[in-house]
Amino acid sequence: ALIRSLQPVRTIHSLVSRCISHLSRQCYDVIVVGGGHAGTEAAAAAARMGAETLLVTQKIHTIGALSCNPSLGGVGKGHLVREVDALDGLCGRAGDWAGINFSILNRSKGPAVWGPRAQLDRQRYREFIQGELRSISRLTVLEGSVEDLLVAEPSPDEPGSHRVTGISLENVLNPITASSVVLTTGTFLSGSIFVGQTTSPGGRIGDAPSSAGLSHTLKERLGLRVGRLRTGTPPRIVKESVDFALAELHPPDRRPTPFSFMNTHTRCKEQVPCYLTYTTPGVERVVQESLHLNCHIQQDTKGPRYCPSIESRVLRFPGRSHQVWLEPEGVTSDLLYPQGLSMTMPPEMQLRLIREIPALHRAEIHSPGYGVQYDYVCPTQLSSALQVKTTQGLFLAGQINGTTGYEEAAAQGLWAGVNAACRALSTPPVSLSRTESYIGVLIDDLVCRGVTEPYRMFTSRAEFRTALRPDNADLRLTPKGYELGCVSPSRYQEAMRVQRSLQDAMAALQALTLSTARCREKLPDVRVSESKNAALTGMELLQYKELSFETLASVFPERLSSYLEFSQRLKIEAVYKPHCDINKKEIERIQKEENMFLPQDIDYFSLPASLSQEAREILDRVRPTTLGAATRLEGITPAAVVSLYNYVQFAE
Ligand code: FAD
Repeated sequence: ALIRSLQPVRTIHSLVSRCISHLSRQCYDVIVVGGGHAGTEAAAAAARMGAETLLVTQKIHTIGALSCNPSLGGVGKGHLVREVDALDGLCGRAGDWAGINFSILNRSKGPAVWGPRAQLDRQRYREFIQGELRSISRLTVLEGSVEDLLVAEPSPDEPGSHRVTGISLENVLNPITASSVVLTTGTFLSGSIFVGQTTSPGGRIGDAPSSAGLSHTLKERLGLRVGRLRTGTPPRIVKESVDFALAELHPPDRRPTPFSFMNTHTRCKEQVPCYLTYTTPGVERVVQESLHLNCHIQQDTKGPRYCPSIESRVLRFPGRSHQVWLEPEGVTSDLLYPQGLSMTMPPEMQLRLIREIPALHRAEIHSPGYGVQYDYVCPTQLSSALQVKTTQGLFLAGQINGTTGYEEAAAQGLWAGVNAACRALSTPPVSLSRTESYIGVLIDDLVCRGVTEPYRMFTSRAEFRTALRPDNADLRLTPKGYELGCVSPSRYQEAMRVQRSLQDAMAALQALTLSTARCREKLPDVRVSESKNAALTGMELLQYKELSFETLASVFPERLSSYLEFSQRLKIEAVYKPHCDINKKEIERIQKEENMFLPQDIDYFSLPASLSQEAREILDRVRPTTLGAATRLEGITPAAVVSLYNYVQFAE
C-alpha cells in the first residue's frame, strides 16, 4: 500500500524514507529495476498478471521521463505502441493524454505501413504514467538504487545455470527477494556522458550511472557477453529566441488519431505545430572546426545509424543540407527540441552551430546536447521470453538489450513483465511469434540475430506487414493477452464487441453481390473493370481505391449503415484480404516450426555429421529455443535446418 500514494515532487524526500522504513514486505514475486519505458510497462504488466510486484528506480519523479525526443510512435514504432496498448500497456493511453501534435506518417503508402505518431507534452506524459502506476494494485514503487543482484550458484541438478533470487539496494542493509527480477536500466549500465572534451559518469544528464556492482555481476559472475553502444541528444532551444518566419510551418492532423483502442479521441485540447528548417554550409564548417574538441565523435565518426548526430551526418554526407525539425516540448514549455541536431561538441561551439541556421540565427540554448555511452547485454543470450538463458529468474528489457527508442523499450518491458510473472506464478513462459506481432518480430530479431548497433523498429523488418497492421493489433493480441491475464475484462469485452461487429459487417459485405452492370448504375464513380462479367461482392468492391465504405453504405443503408463506426477498418480489411489470404500458408508453416522446441541441453557437437562445424558453433552459442528461431540465425543453411528438423522429429 506504500507508494500507491505517490505524492507530488515536493514530498519525495519524506516519501523515500517512508518507502524504506515501511516496505510492507521483503519478498516479492517480481522485482523490476528501473522506472523508464521498459520498467514501467514491465512492472504494470507483472502486477496485472497477478504477481506481487516491486518497481525500484533511482528517482521517483523521473518515472516515465522522455530522455530525448518528446514524441511517441512513427513508422514501425507506432505499430509497437498499438500492440502494447492492445495488451493493456500504458504508453498508448499516455500518448493520447499527452499528445500535442498528432500525425499519421507515411500516409501516401498503404495503411499497413502508416505510422501513428504524436509530439508529447513531457510533463503530462510523466504525470499520466505515474498516476497509472499509483492506481495498480499489487504494485509497490520504491525510490532507491539497486546495487547488486542476489545470485544463487548453479545447483548439481542444473549445472551451468545460475538463479537470481533478489536484489540489494545501495545504503540499505536488508536485501529484497523475488522469484523474478527484470533489469531495465536503459543507458545507465556503466554509462558515461560526453560533452566536448569532458567525460563524466552518468546514465542521462543529472542522473548517476548504475552501480559498478551490477555491471560486475552481469559480466563476471553470470559470464554474460556485454558490448558498448552510444547515442546522443540535441541542445534544447529557448522558444522565444527562434525566428519562426524563416521556417516551414507543419500543423498537426486536423483530426488526431488516438493510439489507444480504448480511446475515441485524444485528450489534450490544445494542438501545436512543428516547424521544419535546414542546415547550411556554415553548420558543416563549425562541425569541422570543432572536431578536435569533440571526444565522442573522435572515437567513432559514424555514430548510431538510426539517430545520428549532426557531426556524423555532416561527415558522412558533406555538402548536403539536412532537415532540422523544431518540435514543441510541451503546451506551456518555453523550450523547443531541434530534431536532427544531436551533438556532442563543446557548448560554445553548439551555440555557434545552431546560429548558422537561418531560423535559429539569434537562438539561445537552454541546455547543451550531449552523448552517452553505455553497456548493453548481447541479446542472443536471452530466450524469447526475454529471460537470460543461463540465469533463471533474470529478465532483461529495453535499451539494456541494445535497442533504442521508447516504443521498443515499452514493448520488451511489457513482454518481460508478463514472463517474469509467469515464472513467479509457476506458469510456463510465453512467446509472441513474428507472424502475429511486431513485438514478436522485435524479440525474435534480438534473440536470434543480436545487434551490432542500436536496434530500432521498421516496418521492413516484418515479413507479414499486410497482416500486422496498426489498425488490427487489438484483434491480433487482446484475446491472447486476456487469456494470459495481462488484459482487463473491460478491454477484452470491447475487443470482442469490435471483432463480432467486423465479422458481421464482412459477412454482410460478402453477401452483397452486384453484377458489373448494376455496379455502374449504382456506383458510377467506381471504375469497375470492363472484363469483369461476374458479380462482385461488397468486399471486392471495397478494394477499389475510389470507393469508401461510407459511400457503399449510403447506397445500401439497410444492409450496411449499422457498421459505419468501422468504416475505415472495413476498408482496410477489404484492401488487404487478398494479400492476407496468400500469406496464410506461409504463416502456418512458420508457426509449425515455431512449435518445434529445441532442448536447451542439446550437444550440437555430437549431432549427425551432416551439420557443418560453423552451424554447430552458431547453434551452440545462441541455443535457439525453437526450430523456427534456428532457421533465422545468420549462417544457418537450409541443409542445417533439415538436419535439425530430423533430429527434433527423432527426439520427439
Ligand atoms: P530508460 O528510459 O533510460 O530508463 C532506465 C531507468 O532505470 C531510469 O529510470 C534509471 O533511473 C533507472 N535505473 C538505472 N539503473 C538503476 C539502478 N541500478 N537502480 C534503480 N534504477 C536504475 N532514443 C531514440 O529513439 N532516439 C534518440 O535519438 C535517442 N537519444 C537518446 C539520447 C540520450 C542522451 C539518451 C539518454 C537516450 C536516448 N534515446 C533515444 C533512448 C531512449 O531514451 C531510450 O531508448 C528509452 O528511454 C529506453 O528505455 P529504458 O526503459 O530501456 O531505459
